[in-house]
Amino acid sequence: MSKSKSPESVKVVVRCRPMNEKERATKFERVVTVDVKLGQIIVRNPRVASAHEHPKVFTFDSVYDSNSKQIDLYDETFRQLVDSVLLGFNGTIFAYGQTGTGKTYTMEGVRNDPERRGVIPNSFEHIFTHISRSQNQQYLVRASYLEIYQEEIRDLISKDQSHRLELKERPDTGVYVKDLSSFVTKSAGEIERVMILGNQNRSVGATNMNEHSSRSHAIFVITVECSELGVDGENHIRVGKLNLVDLAGSERQTKTGAQGERLKEATKINLSLSALGNVISALVDGRSTHIPYRDSKLTRLLQDSLGGNARTVMVANIGPACYNVEETLTTLRYSNRAKNIRNKPRINEDPKDALLREFQEQIARLKEQLERRSGKKKKRRQRRRVGEGGHEEDLEDGETEDDEEEEGVGDQGDYWREQQEKLERERKAIMEDHSLVAEEKLRLLKEKEKKMEDLRKEREVGEMLSAKVKAMESKLLVGGKNIVDHTNEQQRILEQKRHEIAEQKRREREMQQQVENRDEETLELKETYSSLQQEVDIKTKKLKKLFAKLQAVKAEIQDVQEAHIKERQDLEQNQNELTRELKLKHLIIENFIPMEEKNKMVSRAYFDEEDDHWKVKAITRLEDDHQMMSRPVSAVGYRRPLSQHAHMAMVMRPEVRYKAENILKLEMDLPERTTREYEEPVIAPNVAAALEAALRDEDEIQVDASGFHSSLGLMGAISPPGAGGSLRKQKSGRPKTGKKSSAPTSPFSPSIPASPLYPQARGLVPK
Ligand code: ADP
Ligand code: MG
Repeated sequence: MSKSKSPESVKVVVRCRPMNEKERATKFERVVTVDVKLGQIIVRNPRVASAHEHPKVFTFDSVYDSNSKQIDLYDETFRQLVDSVLLGFNGTIFAYGQTGTGKTYTMEGVRNDPERRGVIPNSFEHIFTHISRSQNQQYLVRASYLEIYQEEIRDLISKDQSHRLELKERPDTGVYVKDLSSFVTKSAGEIERVMILGNQNRSVGATNMNEHSSRSHAIFVITVECSELGVDGENHIRVGKLNLVDLAGSERQTKTGAQGERLKEATKINLSLSALGNVISALVDGRSTHIPYRDSKLTRLLQDSLGGNARTVMVANIGPACYNVEETLTTLRYSNRAKNIRNKPRINEDPKDALLREFQEQIARLKEQLERRSGKKKKRRQRRRVGEGGHEEDLEDGETEDDEEEEGVGDQGDYWREQQEKLERERKAIMEDHSLVAEEKLRLLKEKEKKMEDLRKEREVGEMLSAKVKAMESKLLVGGKNIVDHTNEQQRILEQKRHEIAEQKRREREMQQQVENRDEETLELKETYSSLQQEVDIKTKKLKKLFAKLQAVKAEIQDVQEAHIKERQDLEQNQNELTRELKLKHLIIENFIPMEEKNKMVSRAYFDEEDDHWKVKAITRLEDDHQMMSRPVSAVGYRRPLSQHAHMAMVMRPEVRYKAENILKLEMDLPERTTREYEEPVIAPNVAAALEAALRDEDEIQVDASGFHSSLGLMGAISPPGAGGSLRKQKSGRPKTGKKSSAPTSPFSPSIPASPLYPQARGLVPK
């Protein structure tokens, strides 16, 4: 584990899960062969007759077959990485692969079964065992758990699960999740509870857990801070961060037929995953100058793990059965590319945001506070002793208090009781002392009680401070306690041995891979031919070998091209659908939103790079780029704009109610009229004459209906001209419209008194 900054590659391992029940029952063909010794995965294509096509071979740092044990993976592949996190490096473990191939099994495994525990719980054990064995070091371990679903970040251990978190960037510490909660944990058990809590929240938030987990990325983050006295006599802090990432299922999301919200969802689901692929491609390409980290939340958050300051291991999970072959090949190609990413890990020494430093400083502050308090008392006591030795009761009390306080926490309970009893006694004495005036008694009693209260408060503050110090100190873990433990020592040796074996295996595999490569290269150089025939034979053999290789490469090229075409078609389909959506939006805008409103919105819209969203500028900021637009001021010191006239009026006649209000009186904007004038039906002259006659007859039987007029304002308009003057008043009851009411707009207008529209109730309508 060197401290150098020399680049090192991302380590990629492949794990093939066993056939599951269903696959075995259906007797699916096994197409994946795992060569653990050589670190190779061999995939046959089940469709093509095997004689024609050569199997595809992929070589990785190490490969694990279906019999692989969780602990083997840990010892051979992950232990080294976690060790370097303990030294202050950043480390990341990705689990990549199709849904159902064992990503979660690899990361978390089966709880309650020590044999099948995954990397995450195994790393808990590893970290805390390491700490318990350390000497002269102080550790602080904290954990966070988050999830990215549809490009939204959710804190899995916070109380409020509906809250969505944002990514922020700081020049000194890089990208971080704002307001992400983290738990300081003291033991493997505690940190495991954080994981369990997070997993519960993960499933609570989902309607269908299976689908949800296959579409979301879960990231468990462990931060280990270690403080140690350096050679320079100063305390130095190293911070290692371990990201444990269970990625979303890598299978192609079917988007066919999806529209609107569903389409948006579908395009967002694997955005982070395809962005991850693009970042890997760009990093490996060598020619690209731009790495599209910003394209997704996942890549932004894990920027350091890809080509940056971190050690990274990618576990590619695959299934062995034939019906998965396409996805298996995609996974293998994807991870094969990732092998070529170069990282530049370094130890993070004394970073600005180390929590451990804050803890240490806080503890020191609290301790100082405690000391100052007791120091003050000491002084007080000494002063009193030096003085004339006050005879007043109060002073004596104070003295005993201080004495007791300084004498350790042990007797504090006794002391408290004693004090209380003493107070009781004194109270009684005061009560019974008849020489005292009632007032004086009361005063003394009150004084006593106040003293007691003060004493209690002081005690509480002291206790709180020391409890706080204790609590904080308990979070800081120091090792060296179990080092003499015999079984522990044996276990350590065992681990060491396992580690050595794993290392041995790795070296063997590397050597074997090298031998294989060199064999081909040097074959030619070593050979001398004894006869022409032999030369022909050997060369033919070699030719065959090379030809096979050529075919394999050609097949690979074709496969990659096919995959590329498929991806392109997918993207094109996606683009078409999005274009359609866009056209619909345009159509709606053009038809339903007034041009000027649209322009206003367009001028206010801007793209927020930080949040990756279009936003609308606040209207108050429109005028000048960054200046808040303020209310126009016409009169300084008043709440509202004020006209010159009102201002003057106020000065002249301050008693007038009309001041700043109602400067401008506006009529309400009335809608256009949607009704038509009434056209009276043509009435036959004889009918009209009859009606007229009938109405005229009734002059005599008039009833006084003046009470009705006042409430039926509308009727006013119906009355014929010359009716009683009192009717004129009715006008005020009618709601004002913009129209002039004087025009003869109504069929009941007084100009045609003889032809009313409706038969009128006799006697109710006055003349
Ligand atoms: P993923 O998270 O990739 O969708 P899971 O981890 O949930 O997949 O695995 C699917 C199933 O396969 C689980 O029941 C798991 O126990 C089983 N499984 C996966 N890998 C292995 C393995 N290496 N050995 C035994 N069982 C496995
Ligand atoms: Mg899973």
